[in-house]
Amino acid sequence: MSGNRESQLAPFAVAYDDVIATSRIHEEPPHPYRNPFQRDRDRVLHARAFRRLAGKTQVFTRRYSDHLRSRLTHTLEVTQIARTLAAVLNLNEDLVETLALVHDIGHPPFGHAGERVLDDQLMQFSLGFDHNLHALRIVEHFEQRYAAFRGLNLTLAVREGIIKHSRDYKLAEHPELTEYFLDQQPPLEAQLIDLADEIAYLTADLDDGIESGLVNLGDALAHLPTLAASYAEMQHEHPAAWSRLLLNETIKRWLNALVDDLVATTRRNIAAAGVATLTDVRRQPARLIAFSPDMEAMRRRTKQYLSQALYNNPELETEKQHAILVIGSLFQHWVAHPETLPRHQRELAEASGVPRAVADYIAGMTDDYILRAYLDVTGTAGMS
Ligand code: MG
Repeated sequence: MSGNRESQLAPFAVAYDDVIATSRIHEEPPHPYRNPFQRDRDRVLHARAFRRLAGKTQVFTRRYSDHLRSRLTHTLEVTQIARTLAAVLNLNEDLVETLALVHDIGHPPFGHAGERVLDDQLMQFSLGFDHNLHALRIVEHFEQRYAAFRGLNLTLAVREGIIKHSRDYKLAEHPELTEYFLDQQPPLEAQLIDLADEIAYLTADLDDGIESGLVNLGDALAHLPTLAASYAEMQHEHPAAWSRLLLNETIKRWLNALVDDLVATTRRNIAAAGVATLTDVRRQPARLIAFSPDMEAMRRRTKQYLSQALYNNPELETEKQHAILVIGSLFQHWVAHPETLPRHQRELAEASGVPRAVADYIAGMTDDYILRAYLDVTGTAGMS
């Protein structure tokens, strides 16, 4: 059904006709010309939660530049990197595309600051906020597009990938996730998403960090010797070029180096483990998709640098405090006055309790929407 993609699939990839991977909660007849994962991709792409990614902060709000990434453009960058990796490793490209498109769908407004406030607020009720679990609730319950069932009725492989791509959950703590093989490794298609995400955001955050003026180019190069060497090489080749272009070239080369390293290391890992089937992938003691030790060390170093220079930059503190104020106040307001929630959220509160329903309501909002809600509820815009 999927033409040459199917014929080139590695024996350890998720097959297009795998009965378990393609199973849906509500059985549906096969589509005449789209395979199950292409259908899931289209369902994600047409979801309201997917469109809202355009209005959600990745690292920055838009006060710095209109060119900085939103969650939507980040998602599209992850998708293209992940598809390249899947194609070269002969993995299931349609499954990978779907998982990449859906991977950040559970993120609340205001980036990671937003996620932390929701988690803190829920802690008073012995609950927590986790964007992967929220993403699963979105695709299983909140998206309503079909007359016959709630949610998007996605295949098991996609739901498993949503849960397991970036972290391992313990069955004892999450009995509700029993159908997702928590005692086993995820398929390579899901493992791929985590590192495609890393490649996309490390390169993009350095780029956006410098574009915004929060990260200084000279300082970044002083902390990241591999990039400094590449930048010096570019300077030598193009002595008259503008520093921004030299930086673009440096970041582009680095992105290619990350992808090359991931492909080579993963191939070595697959060969060394003697993996021949998806069952073999699942039974491995560790994930097989990985960077080499040298590249992993550079990845960590870059992450540490960005954490200090960008994510914890004092210039972003006002925005973080604003996020805490807005989300915290609205959460407390709606928990105290659940009768003022929209009807759909009141119904959800009956099933999952008021605090969870309020957190799910807030997590779905875009940055602009929650600011309007805050103005409606409090009559003020908060901090200016
Ligand atoms: Mg991401």
